[in-house]
Amino acid sequence: MVHAHPDDESSQSSATLSRYVAEGAAVTLVTCTLGERGEILVPDWEHFSPAELGEHRIEELATALGVMGVTDHIWLGGPGTFHDTGMATDERGQVIPPDDSPENAFWNADLLEASNHLVEVIRSRRPQVLSSYDPHGNYGHPDHIQAHRVTMYAAQLAAVRAHRPDLGEPWEVSRILWNTVNPAMWEEADRLAKEQGIDLFGDRDENAGPRRPGASEVAAVVPYGEYLQRSTDALLSHRSQVDPEQDFWKFFSIMRALPTAGEAYILAGGQPFPHSDAPADDIFAGLDVSP
Ligand SMILES: [Zn+2]
Repeated sequence: MVHAHPDDESSQSSATLSRYVAEGAAVTLVTCTLGERGEILVPDWEHFSPAELGEHRIEELATALGVMGVTDHIWLGGPGTFHDTGMATDERGQVIPPDDSPENAFWNADLLEASNHLVEVIRSRRPQVLSSYDPHGNYGHPDHIQAHRVTMYAAQLAAVRAHRPDLGEPWEVSRILWNTVNPAMWEEADRLAKEQGIDLFGDRDENAGPRRPGASEVAAVVPYGEYLQRSTDALLSHRSQVDPEQDFWKFFSIMRALPTAGEAYILAGGQPFPHSDAPADDIFAGLDVSP
């Protein structure tokens, strides 16, 4: 599973990571940047420089990994190789790359060089399922878009025997997924939140917020179910980034507490899920998982 910043794994994939660790699957998380340019929500830490925040977020991520039981974690290219690009918004409220991103920002990375780091991970771990963001980075953060590109390119390159044999034996991933907003859950949570006076997107048009796929695009939903508490604890491990009293996180907790809540995935490539009218509840459904 590939994520751009520490906390993305907890906000988008914590039930999935926790569940498959608990079920005994080999789970690897790759994080592309230290999240040095994240907004700091804890007043006492506001003076942190980006480098200090990055160091701090290494610890926050370690706590979250402990909660989820993930023991195999990799910083793409090594910690600090790719700097958090940060983000800006244009006059329409769309997220865009900022003008002041550092030279080693992930957005500026050479795609082949960044992908080769992941090729090495794919060839050594030999995953059946690989997951990252959709081509829009779900809500447009440049590092999420770049994580998408790197994941897709690396998956291709890893399978090519002639490509960089020094990085390991070729490996073809069986299924590629993009994590996405669960559209039904989002709308239900938005309604409930408004009842509680939380209006996240206010006057902005209904397309504000992350891109939401059509319901039929969602191929799998891993329910929070028994992993809801672990999921919440993982998220709250990222104290610099997550303030449960903020409207966005209140909305988020309303969404996660819905009875049908789960982490949604689009099938991006590889083996389809077994045919069904409802999304699969297992990202390995239909794959041969015998050891
Ligand atoms: Zn992120």
